[in-house]
Amino acid sequence: MTKNLEIVYGNNRYDLWDALQDITSGEYAESGYEVPKGKICVLFGNWNTGKTVKNILDACDIPYTEKREEALSKELEKKFELEWYDEWASCGNCDKYVRTNASSLNWTPSYVLTKCGITCRHCVKDYTDDILDEFINNPRKAWQLEESFLEDEGFTLLDEIYESKNVMPEQILKRLQDEYKDSDFVFCKHSTGMFNVQFKVFMKARN
Ligand SMILES: [Zn+2]
Repeated sequence: MTKNLEIVYGNNRYDLWDALQDITSGEYAESGYEVPKGKICVLFGNWNTGKTVKNILDACDIPYTEKREEALSKELEKKFELEWYDEWASCGNCDKYVRTNASSLNWTPSYVLTKCGITCRHCVKDYTDDILDEFINNPRKAWQLEESFLEDEGFTLLDEIYESKNVMPEQILKRLQDEYKDSDFVFCKHSTGMFNVQFKVFMKARN
């Protein structure tokens, strides 16, 4: 970040930029999120108790008052997108941030989690082969990004949609492997409800 952030309290003008460097900041890789024009970036902090705001005041040797805290909060909101530090994580490849806590029932992750860590949806296409290795014939992992990734890799969607409350993915995989010899399978999330997940299966014939 190369901008600056100043705040005026009474007759004193404070440069807060150095204090902000201690706060995690970055860009979004989350689907549907964008830093609006005019804002600098995303700041990840503890906003509820004002802990992050108080830390900034402390770091700048500004004596705490409620009014100053309020003024700084407003200034931060004007210049930054504010997100909760414990609800987001960064992509191991591009360092942009994805939500790791659901924001609604219909939310789906904008990343894939593998033994290499988090890869955001933008970076997955650069490592699709390696990432898919962990999903192929693995009934414990469901693909949750766009299905086009699987289609681009030559997988085709099978017709049936399964209910998690009715059948175990292990049983489905076994059945499919018996039926379609020499094929690979990837489980894919179809939808989630309060008490149930629907999923489907992509298949690709082995060469
Ligand atoms: Zn990324």
